[in-house]
Amino acid sequence: MAKVRRLMPQQPGMFRARVVRTERVSPSMQRVTVAGAGLAEFPWLGYDHWFRLFLQLPQQRRLRLPEYTGSQWWQPYLAIPEHERPHCANYSVADFRQRAAEMDIDFVVHRDPGGEIEGRAAIWACQAAPGDALAVLDQGILFNCPHDASEVTIVADETGLPAAAGILRSLPGETVGRLIQEVPTAADRRVLDGPAGVTVSWVVRRDNTSVPGAAALRELRRLASTDAAGYAFVVGESTLATEGRRHLHRLGMPKDRITFSGFWKHEAAQAA
Ligand SMILES: Cc1cc2nc3c(=O)[nH]c(=O)nc-3n(C[C@H](O)[C@H](O)[C@H](O)COP(=O)(O)OP(=O)(O)OC[C@H]3O[C@@H](n4cnc5c(N)ncnc54)[C@H](O)[C@@H]3O)c2cc1C
Repeated sequence: MAKVRRLMPQQPGMFRARVVRTERVSPSMQRVTVAGAGLAEFPWLGYDHWFRLFLQLPQQRRLRLPEYTGSQWWQPYLAIPEHERPHCANYSVADFRQRAAEMDIDFVVHRDPGGEIEGRAAIWACQAAPGDALAVLDQGILFNCPHDASEVTIVADETGLPAAAGILRSLPGETVGRLIQEVPTAADRRVLDGPAGVTVSWVVRRDNTSVPGAAALRELRRLASTDAAGYAFVVGESTLATEGRRHLHRLGMPKDRITFSGFWKHEAAQAA
């Protein structure tokens, strides 16, 4: 008797894809381009559009995804036996080409104190080969600038660079403001498309033992005033996000005009 193959229904917001190619775009950023027939339907909004990324780990035979209805995917995800559970991490759309059903994802290549690449997603990205399976679960955008904002301030460490680049590309041409963007090395800087009125300040870490985000926070703290009618978006290591928001609020920016998100936690912040 012929084997009956059970077709899994597409989960809401979930898109299966495969790796098409990879490229080290700068010393600290590995770009993985993925594609899939269904990916053409990804409802890309520009800005900092982000998603949950599900990855098949080396020891797994197939990519098993949580089966859910509605939007509750976390419990079904945890219900997958640990040895079959895919790795899940959060990433931003670095670029999206609907006609080709292709998405670029930029992974920060982060290293442990011994210089070895660490992090399951970062290691996966550096070893990814054409055909490798993955899935993305659409999460929408965090950037929530009021229409009447007088100026926009964006502050990010390198994990927020894909988001910051996407926001700059999406902002209306007449927008004014600033981007404070921290990167690990000078060679990680790149040309960003965006409104002429948004200045870009690159903050190069230089000292690779310092906590990512600390240099961007120092630069932000040099700001002695801000327009209460502005809007700010502060993302990256959790201390940058929380302390950056605190500084802007102290300068008079209302809390509801500041979007902040800890994209990851440094060991020191975790211990605290
Ligand atoms: C909305 C959102 C969007 C994001 N977009 C991006 C994106 O586009 N590109 C991107 O690279 N990251 C992005 N991040 C951050 C990313 O999800 C985290 O860095 C994540 O921990 C990486 O997963 P991993 O499996 O490589 O590391 P994990 O297995 O989660 O962590 C292993 C160890 O590495 C440390 N670590 C994690 N990230 C870093 C880092 N960047 N530098 C130094 N140490 C680190 C952890 O503290 C931990 O000790 C985003 C996060 C959010 C919430």
